[in-house]
Amino acid sequence: MQQEKVIIIGSGPAGLTAALYAGRAQLEPLVITGNQVGGQIAITSEVENYPGFPDSILGPELVERMQKQAERFGARYVYDEVIEVELADGPPFYVKTYGGEYEAEALVITAGASPRRLGIPGEDALIGRGVSYCATCDGFFFRGKDVVVVGGGDSALEEGLFLTKFANRVRIIHRRDELRAGPILQKRAFANDKISFIWDTVVTEIIANEDGTVSGVKTMNVNSGKLDRLETDGVFIFVGHYPNSKFLEGKLAMDEHGYVITDEFMRTSIPGVFAAGEIQDPYYRQIATSVGQGTAAAMQVEKWLSEREAEREESFA
Ligand code: NAP
Repeated sequence: MQQEKVIIIGSGPAGLTAALYAGRAQLEPLVITGNQVGGQIAITSEVENYPGFPDSILGPELVERMQKQAERFGARYVYDEVIEVELADGPPFYVKTYGGEYEAEALVITAGASPRRLGIPGEDALIGRGVSYCATCDGFFFRGKDVVVVGGGDSALEEGLFLTKFANRVRIIHRRDELRAGPILQKRAFANDKISFIWDTVVTEIIANEDGTVSGVKTMNVNSGKLDRLETDGVFIFVGHYPNSKFLEGKLAMDEHGYVITDEFMRTSIPGVFAAGEIQDPYYRQIATSVGQGTAAAMQVEKWLSEREAEREESFA
């Protein structure tokens, strides 16, 4: 079993920043990246709200820079996914991945969040066949086509705007008559000729052609109950996220939605286990806030490890 001082689970902004700070504290952190290095920013096109990049930066480029920066100070990466942890008897804490087994004196959990599904007929079967949760990844396939976007938050508008680079028409279907998205994105979306809105409406089913690709959606107006059917080539769904905390169930304290509970020092219910980023933050979910939480978690890890070390030395003295 590989012995480590600090293992960081996840490689989004929180994880990579925790790796940078733990690296600079000489802790030689090991980052187990998960199946997507960079997490959600790796599939984001332009990032306009991360300080220091007045002309915006592409998500994958920001990830690469963060990764390199942490590496420069001693962070190491394992491109693998955690499938099991044992925390109760730690430290050391036990971490199992598809490819190996590890022990660590301290853990920082930054496994992030994933896009939520609508849970309607046709959705699962048509993923990759017209149903998508990532405009940056799949927008290109809809050049000259018609798409609908589901949701009314920042993601729906930002990704909807991105889709106008490819699609001829983008209809945003929202379940209310008021958007959750911020004013700048709203202004841009309303000003874009290719974008229109279908208000007070939910998608109830996604329908397929005979060739097994999306041909349209069934909708319902939530006020009148009126049913409709819209023809379209693609359905992009942006209805929020859920925390990637399944592997932690029963292992530490979580809220009813599966978010890991932390205090202001990023401490979880298990001493020596810290969490940062979207796995513990249902409120802000910004790159900048995740970076801040990752910083705090790594600083607390350093403090916790040195306090333990001091206690050990005292008991030997
Ligand atoms: P979100 O803010 O939670 O918005 C989710 C949207 O989906 C809401 O409009 C919600 O409707 C709708 N929705 C939820 N469940 C639904 C369902 N079952 N059927 C139909 N519609 C449903 O999620 P997000 O847009 O992914 O944003 C997540 C966080 O990231 C936010 O904090 C956001 O500010 C941030 N973010 C920021 C940027 C940026 O600043 N450029 C870009 C992307 C994301 P209701 O409004 O009725 O609840």
